[in-house]
Amino acid sequence: MKIVFWGTRGSVAVPGEETVKYGGNTTCVEVRLSDDRLIIIDAGTGIRKLGMELLRKKEEEINIFLTHPHWDHIQGFPFFTPMYMKDYSVIVHGWRTPLRKVQNTIMDQMEGTYFPVDFSQLSAKINFYEIKEYLLPYKSANLSFLRLNHPIICHSIKIEEHGKTFVFMTDNELKSETPNTKFTPWEDFVEFCRGADLLAHDAQFTPEELERRKGWGHSSYTQVLELAQESGVKKLALFHHDPNHSDAEIDIILKDCHDIIKRNGYNFDCVASYEGMQIDL
Ligand SMILES: [Zn+2]
Repeated sequence: MKIVFWGTRGSVAVPGEETVKYGGNTTCVEVRLSDDRLIIIDAGTGIRKLGMELLRKKEEEINIFLTHPHWDHIQGFPFFTPMYMKDYSVIVHGWRTPLRKVQNTIMDQMEGTYFPVDFSQLSAKINFYEIKEYLLPYKSANLSFLRLNHPIICHSIKIEEHGKTFVFMTDNELKSETPNTKFTPWEDFVEFCRGADLLAHDAQFTPEELERRKGWGHSSYTQVLELAQESGVKKLALFHHDPNHSDAEIDIILKDCHDIIKRNGYNFDCVASYEGMQIDL
Protein backbone atom coordinates (compact mmCIF):
# COMPACT_ATOMS: atom_id res chain seq x y z
CA MET A 1 0.00 0.00 0.00
CA LYS A 2 1.27 3.45 -0.92
CA ILE A 3 0.03 6.60 0.80
CA VAL A 4 0.49 10.13 -0.57
CA PHE A 5 -0.53 13.26 1.33
CA TRP A 6 -2.03 16.01 -0.90
CA GLY A 7 -3.44 18.23 1.85
CA THR A 8 -2.43 18.18 5.52
CA ARG A 9 -3.92 21.42 6.86
CA GLY A 10 -6.97 21.65 9.11
CA SER A 11 -9.89 24.10 9.10
CA VAL A 12 -8.98 26.38 6.18
CA ALA A 13 -6.42 26.53 3.37
CA VAL A 14 -3.47 28.77 4.22
CA PRO A 15 -1.17 29.47 1.29
CA GLY A 16 1.84 31.70 1.89
CA GLU A 17 5.50 31.83 2.69
CA GLU A 18 4.96 30.53 6.23
CA THR A 19 3.35 27.27 5.09
CA VAL A 20 5.63 26.14 2.27
CA LYS A 21 7.22 23.21 4.11
CA TYR A 22 4.12 21.42 5.43
CA GLY A 23 1.69 22.85 2.89
CA GLY A 24 -1.41 25.02 3.02
CA ASN A 25 -4.01 22.76 1.39
CA THR A 26 -6.72 21.07 3.43
CA THR A 27 -7.29 17.35 3.89
CA CYS A 28 -6.78 14.93 1.03
CA VAL A 29 -4.90 11.62 1.09
CA GLU A 30 -4.31 9.19 -1.79
CA VAL A 31 -4.04 5.49 -0.98
CA ARG A 32 -2.87 3.04 -3.64
CA LEU A 33 -3.57 -0.61 -2.96
CA SER A 34 -1.14 -3.28 -4.13
CA ASP A 35 -2.99 -3.71 -7.45
CA ASP A 36 -2.76 0.08 -8.02
CA ARG A 37 -6.43 0.55 -7.13
CA LEU A 38 -7.07 4.06 -5.85
CA ILE A 39 -8.77 5.24 -2.68
CA ILE A 40 -9.01 8.97 -1.97
CA ILE A 41 -9.72 10.05 1.58
CA ASP A 42 -11.46 13.43 1.80
CA ALA A 43 -11.88 16.17 -0.74
CA GLY A 44 -10.25 19.20 0.87
CA THR A 45 -8.41 21.66 -1.37
CA GLY A 46 -5.55 19.16 -1.77
CA ILE A 47 -7.74 17.10 -4.11
CA ARG A 48 -7.46 19.73 -6.86
CA LYS A 49 -3.84 18.93 -7.62
CA LEU A 50 -4.43 15.19 -7.24
CA GLY A 51 -7.21 15.50 -9.84
CA MET A 52 -4.77 17.06 -12.32
CA GLU A 53 -2.38 14.18 -11.70
CA LEU A 54 -5.11 11.57 -12.23
CA LEU A 55 -5.90 12.98 -15.68
CA ARG A 56 -2.47 11.80 -16.79
CA LYS A 57 -3.28 8.18 -16.05
CA LYS A 58 -6.68 6.81 -16.83
CA GLU A 59 -8.37 5.42 -13.73
CA GLU A 60 -11.19 2.92 -14.25
CA GLU A 61 -12.95 4.11 -11.15
CA ILE A 62 -12.24 6.76 -8.54
CA ASN A 63 -13.51 6.08 -5.03
CA ILE A 64 -13.60 8.95 -2.57
CA PHE A 65 -14.28 8.28 1.11
CA LEU A 66 -15.39 11.28 3.16
CA THR A 67 -14.66 11.31 6.88
CA HIS A 68 -17.24 14.09 7.35
CA PRO A 69 -18.63 17.06 5.41
CA HIS A 70 -16.99 20.05 7.12
CA TRP A 71 -15.63 22.59 4.61
CA ASP A 72 -11.98 21.63 4.92
CA HIS A 73 -12.89 18.06 3.86
CA ILE A 74 -15.15 18.81 0.87
CA GLN A 75 -14.22 22.22 -0.51
CA GLY A 76 -11.85 20.92 -3.18
CA PHE A 77 -14.54 18.74 -4.74
CA PRO A 78 -15.83 21.30 -7.29
CA PHE A 79 -12.23 21.72 -8.49
CA PHE A 80 -11.58 17.99 -8.95
CA THR A 81 -11.10 17.92 -12.73
CA PRO A 82 -12.04 14.26 -13.37
CA MET A 83 -15.61 15.24 -12.47
CA TYR A 84 -15.76 17.26 -15.67
CA MET A 85 -14.59 14.37 -17.91
CA LYS A 86 -17.19 12.04 -19.38
CA ASP A 87 -14.93 8.96 -19.37
CA TYR A 88 -14.52 8.99 -15.60
CA SER A 89 -16.53 7.19 -12.97
CA VAL A 90 -16.47 8.62 -9.46
CA ILE A 91 -18.08 7.09 -6.38
CA VAL A 92 -18.33 9.18 -3.24
CA HIS A 93 -18.73 7.21 -0.01
CA GLY A 94 -19.81 8.92 3.17
CA TRP A 95 -22.09 8.99 6.17
CA ARG A 96 -25.50 10.56 6.27
CA THR A 97 -25.72 13.46 8.73
CA PRO A 98 -28.91 14.44 10.59
CA LEU A 99 -29.60 17.20 8.03
CA ARG A 100 -28.28 15.86 4.73
CA LYS A 101 -27.79 12.77 2.62
CA VAL A 102 -24.24 12.14 1.35
CA GLN A 103 -25.00 13.55 -2.11
CA ASN A 104 -26.42 16.75 -0.61
CA THR A 105 -23.33 17.39 1.49
CA ILE A 106 -21.45 17.57 -1.83
CA MET A 107 -24.05 18.92 -4.26
CA ASP A 108 -25.38 21.73 -2.08
CA GLN A 109 -22.00 23.49 -2.05
CA MET A 110 -22.28 23.75 -5.85
CA GLU A 111 -25.67 25.48 -5.75
CA GLY A 112 -25.64 28.69 -7.82
CA THR A 113 -25.23 31.01 -4.86
CA TYR A 114 -21.85 29.49 -4.07
CA PHE A 115 -20.45 28.13 -7.32
CA PRO A 116 -20.85 28.93 -11.04
CA VAL A 117 -21.13 25.36 -12.36
CA ASP A 118 -24.19 23.38 -11.35
CA PHE A 119 -23.65 19.80 -10.23
CA SER A 120 -25.90 18.58 -13.07
CA GLN A 121 -23.39 19.89 -15.61
CA LEU A 122 -20.59 17.58 -14.48
CA SER A 123 -19.83 15.05 -17.20
CA ALA A 124 -18.39 12.16 -15.20
CA LYS A 125 -20.54 9.28 -14.04
CA ILE A 126 -20.99 10.14 -10.37
CA ASN A 127 -22.54 7.94 -7.73
CA PHE A 128 -22.96 8.25 -4.00
CA TYR A 129 -22.81 5.48 -1.46
CA GLU A 130 -24.07 5.87 2.07
CA ILE A 131 -21.84 3.87 4.40
CA LYS A 132 -23.78 1.94 7.01
CA GLU A 133 -21.34 -0.87 7.79
CA TYR A 134 -18.41 -0.69 10.18
CA LEU A 135 -16.46 -3.27 8.18
CA LEU A 136 -16.40 -3.06 4.39
CA PRO A 137 -14.42 -5.47 2.19
CA TYR A 138 -13.02 -3.37 -0.65
CA LYS A 139 -11.03 -4.90 -3.53
CA SER A 140 -7.97 -6.56 -1.95
CA ALA A 141 -8.39 -4.65 1.32
CA ASN A 142 -10.64 -4.44 4.33
CA LEU A 143 -11.92 -1.05 5.38
CA SER A 144 -13.23 -0.42 8.87
CA PHE A 145 -14.62 2.67 10.49
CA LEU A 146 -14.88 4.18 13.96
CA ARG A 147 -17.02 7.11 15.06
CA LEU A 148 -14.85 10.01 16.20
CA ASN A 149 -15.34 12.72 18.79
CA HIS A 150 -16.32 15.70 16.65
CA PRO A 151 -19.32 18.08 16.59
CA ILE A 152 -20.74 16.34 13.50
CA ILE A 153 -20.80 12.66 12.47
CA CYS A 154 -17.19 11.89 11.57
CA HIS A 155 -15.35 8.59 11.15
CA SER A 156 -11.86 7.20 11.14
CA ILE A 157 -10.96 4.92 8.23
CA LYS A 158 -8.69 1.91 8.74
CA ILE A 159 -7.32 0.22 5.62
CA GLU A 160 -5.80 -3.25 5.99
CA GLU A 161 -4.18 -5.07 3.10
CA HIS A 162 -1.73 -7.99 3.02
CA GLY A 163 -0.89 -7.66 6.72
CA LYS A 164 -0.27 -3.89 6.59
CA THR A 165 -2.50 -1.37 8.34
CA PHE A 166 -3.05 2.34 7.79
CA VAL A 167 -5.31 4.23 10.19
CA PHE A 168 -6.49 7.67 9.15
CA MET A 169 -8.04 9.42 12.15
CA THR A 170 -8.64 13.13 11.90
CA ASP A 171 -10.99 15.67 13.40
CA ASN A 172 -11.04 13.79 16.65
CA GLU A 173 -11.00 15.01 20.24
CA LEU A 174 -9.39 12.00 21.88
CA LYS A 175 -10.30 12.82 25.48
CA SER A 176 -13.51 14.73 24.99
CA GLU A 177 -15.38 15.92 28.06
CA THR A 178 -18.15 17.85 26.34
CA PRO A 179 -21.47 16.22 25.32
CA ASN A 180 -21.40 17.52 21.71
CA THR A 181 -18.15 15.69 20.96
CA LYS A 182 -18.18 12.78 23.41
CA PHE A 183 -19.01 9.61 21.49
CA THR A 184 -16.10 7.19 21.74
CA PRO A 185 -13.95 6.40 24.79
CA TRP A 186 -10.14 6.37 24.80
CA GLU A 187 -9.96 2.56 25.07
CA ASP A 188 -11.82 2.15 21.77
CA PHE A 189 -9.34 4.40 19.98
CA VAL A 190 -6.46 2.37 21.41
CA GLU A 191 -8.05 -0.86 20.25
CA PHE A 192 -8.86 0.47 16.78
CA CYS A 193 -5.27 1.68 16.22
CA ARG A 194 -3.66 -1.40 17.76
CA GLY A 195 -0.43 -2.34 15.95
CA ALA A 196 -1.01 -0.06 12.95
CA ASP A 197 1.96 0.39 10.63
CA LEU A 198 0.95 4.02 10.11
CA LEU A 199 -1.41 6.22 12.09
CA ALA A 200 -2.17 9.70 10.73
CA HIS A 201 -3.96 11.56 13.53
CA ASP A 202 -5.33 15.03 14.14
CA ALA A 203 -2.68 16.88 16.17
CA GLN A 204 -4.06 20.37 15.63
CA PHE A 205 -3.34 21.91 19.00
CA THR A 206 -0.62 22.32 21.58
CA PRO A 207 -1.77 21.25 25.08
CA GLU A 208 -2.17 24.95 26.02
CA GLU A 209 -4.31 25.70 22.95
CA LEU A 210 -6.53 22.69 23.61
CA GLU A 211 -7.40 24.05 27.06
CA ARG A 212 -9.18 26.97 25.34
CA ARG A 213 -10.75 24.89 22.56
CA LYS A 214 -12.43 21.96 24.21
CA GLY A 215 -15.49 20.74 22.35
CA TRP A 216 -14.10 21.80 18.96
CA GLY A 217 -13.34 18.18 18.08
CA HIS A 218 -9.53 18.19 17.85
CA SER A 219 -6.61 16.84 19.89
CA SER A 220 -3.27 18.01 21.23
CA TYR A 221 -0.10 16.44 19.92
CA THR A 222 0.78 15.12 23.38
CA GLN A 223 -2.48 13.13 23.51
CA VAL A 224 -1.71 11.71 20.08
CA LEU A 225 1.73 10.56 21.25
CA GLU A 226 0.04 8.80 24.16
CA LEU A 227 -2.38 7.05 21.81
CA ALA A 228 0.41 5.95 19.45
CA GLN A 229 2.43 4.47 22.32
CA GLU A 230 -0.50 2.75 24.03
CA SER A 231 -1.77 1.19 20.82
CA GLY A 232 1.70 0.12 19.67
CA VAL A 233 1.69 1.82 16.28
CA LYS A 234 4.94 1.74 14.30
CA LYS A 235 4.79 5.19 12.76
CA LEU A 236 2.80 8.29 13.65
CA ALA A 237 2.11 11.16 11.25
CA LEU A 238 0.90 14.37 12.90
CA PHE A 239 -1.98 15.62 10.75
CA HIS A 240 -4.57 18.44 10.41
CA HIS A 241 -2.10 21.20 11.24
CA ASP A 242 -3.67 24.30 12.72
CA PRO A 243 -3.99 27.11 10.12
CA ASN A 244 -2.31 29.48 12.59
CA HIS A 245 0.78 27.28 12.92
CA SER A 246 3.65 28.32 10.65
CA ASP A 247 6.28 25.88 9.38
CA ALA A 248 8.58 27.07 12.18
CA GLU A 249 5.93 26.34 14.80
CA ILE A 250 5.26 22.86 13.41
CA ASP A 251 9.03 22.25 13.51
CA ILE A 252 8.96 23.12 17.22
CA ILE A 253 5.97 20.81 17.82
CA LEU A 254 7.75 17.96 16.02
CA LYS A 255 10.94 18.51 18.01
CA ASP A 256 8.92 18.46 21.23
CA CYS A 257 7.36 15.15 20.09
CA HIS A 258 10.80 13.67 19.49
CA ASP A 259 11.96 14.89 22.93
CA ILE A 260 8.89 13.36 24.64
CA ILE A 261 9.38 10.07 22.75
CA LYS A 262 13.04 9.92 23.83
CA ARG A 263 12.37 10.96 27.44
CA ASN A 264 9.64 8.36 27.91
CA GLY A 265 11.34 5.57 25.99
CA TYR A 266 8.48 5.36 23.48
CA ASN A 267 9.22 3.14 20.53
CA PHE A 268 7.59 4.52 17.41
CA ASP A 269 8.68 6.87 14.67
CA CYS A 270 7.01 10.30 14.49
CA VAL A 271 6.80 12.67 11.52
CA ALA A 272 4.75 15.77 10.74
CA SER A 273 2.80 15.15 7.56
CA TYR A 274 3.49 17.50 4.67
CA GLU A 275 2.12 17.94 1.16
CA GLY A 276 3.79 15.43 -1.14
CA MET A 277 4.84 13.08 1.66
CA GLN A 278 4.75 9.49 0.43
CA ILE A 279 4.85 6.45 2.70
CA ASP A 280 5.06 2.86 1.43
CA LEU A 281 3.79 0.13 3.72
ZN1 LIG B 1 -11.06 19.31 9.54
